[in-house]
This record gives sequence, C-alpha cells and structure tokens, in this order.
Amino acid sequence: MAIGDYLHTFLDIFYPRSCLHCNRNLNNSHGLYLCETCAGKIPYISHPCCIRCGALLGPHVKSKAKEGCAACKGKYLPFDTMTSVAYYDDVMKTLIHKFKYARLKFLSRLLHDILISHGRVREVVPDSDVIVPVPLHWFKKMRRGFNQSELLSLGIQRHFSKPLSANNLCRCRNTASQTHLSKNQRQVNIHNAFFVAVPESFRGKRVVLVDDVLTTGVTASECSKKLREAGAASIHLLVLATAKHHD
Ligand SMILES: [Zn+2]
Ligand SMILES: [Zn+2]
Repeated sequence: MAIGDYLHTFLDIFYPRSCLHCNRNLNNSHGLYLCETCAGKIPYISHPCCIRCGALLGPHVKSKAKEGCAACKGKYLPFDTMTSVAYYDDVMKTLIHKFKYARLKFLSRLLHDILISHGRVREVVPDSDVIVPVPLHWFKKMRRGFNQSELLSLGIQRHFSKPLSANNLCRCRNTASQTHLSKNQRQVNIHNAFFVAVPESFRGKRVVLVDDVLTTGVTASECSKKLREAGAASIHLLVLATAKHHD
C-alpha cells in the first residue's frame, strides 16, 4: 500500500467522506469515491464505434471491420485500432481532473478498473505484446509526481500480465500547453516532441498505446507514428476518455 493510500484511509476515519463529483456525504454509501447517483452517471460510450478510428457508427451500421467506417476508409491513420471508453465530460471529467490536477493518485485504481472492464479492451490487450503509455516530459512528470497514462497502464499490465514499456517511447520536448490551441497549432507544437530510444525493442511487436484523454488526437497520432517508425507490427490505441467537442 502506498503512503497516499494510507493517508486516504486515515482521512476516511477522521473526516466524513464525500462524493468527488457532487460532494454528497458518503458515510452511508457503498461508494468509495462517488455516490451511487454519480457512479451511475459516468458517461460511457455505449454506441457502436468504428474499430479503426473510434467514430460513432449509426444504429444500423454493422461494419466493425478493420478497414474502417465511411469516415476513415482509405484514410491514413497511424494506429490500427482505436478504443475510447467514455466521454471526457460530467463525472469522468471530474475524476480525471481530480486525478491529474489535484493529484489524487489513488483514483488511478478506479480509472484503470473502468478501462479494464471495457469489452474491447479485454479483446485487444490479451492479443498484444507490450503496453506503452503516452509519455510525459520528465519535468511535467516530476512536477505532477506521476504520469497518469503510466498509472493506467500499470493497472492494465497487472490485470492482463503483459509487459509494460514506460521508458522507451520518450517525450523529449516539454511543449507548451495544448489546451487553447487549434488542431493545426497542436500539430506544429507536438512535431518531433517524441522519440523511441531503442527501436529494436518495439520491432515486430503488437503495441497497446494508452492515453488518458483524447482531444484532437494529435498527441496519440504522433506517438503512434514513432512506434510505427520503430517497426511495431500493430498499434492499438486505448483511451480512457474522449472530448466530445473539439476543432
Ligand atoms: Zn455524487
Ligand atoms: Zn472509422
């Protein structure tokens, strides 16, 4: 048990627990971090999605084939498949904010459990060779104390007993915040921000690339390109939450 977990247990004893999303008192609740109402409001992506690009498919579109949907067929994508579990909205946005910016590291357990329980994740990971988190620049990681994608990947690694490679795909530039940039500006900002230290380690490997939040997809695409250049046999992108509206 990490020190943070002990601290959390300690706080539970001496302070009333409250729901991280709505602040309702949790002392008479089974929920550890969320009340039952908020736990039921996690915005899972429950519609059928394109297996290749992750786009929502219409209710009568059967195709989940690897050649893609009407939106991505024939288009170059640096990854082979893409799965996102929830929308970056509502309760999920709160959880990820508390996890990353309030540094509630213990929330990684709840969040990787959400990832692991997704049907498509349970299909993709057993057929892979290595799990790779989207890296943070060392300075950002030092300031936050952890890389959120790495903690999610650790949960996946432990559950599926797959190797984790957290240091081979590296972020060599600490780019400016992407939050207020357009997709084109993000592309310029992120160009050559990543490299693979030992390409041979990824050669011929089926890679699962893990990211916490997908907004424009520029970061995940750039990482996928580097993995592809290193000789990865396939790249399967797993994302905890996708932003609903982006340019
Ligand atoms: Zn609540
Ligand atoms: Zn598609």
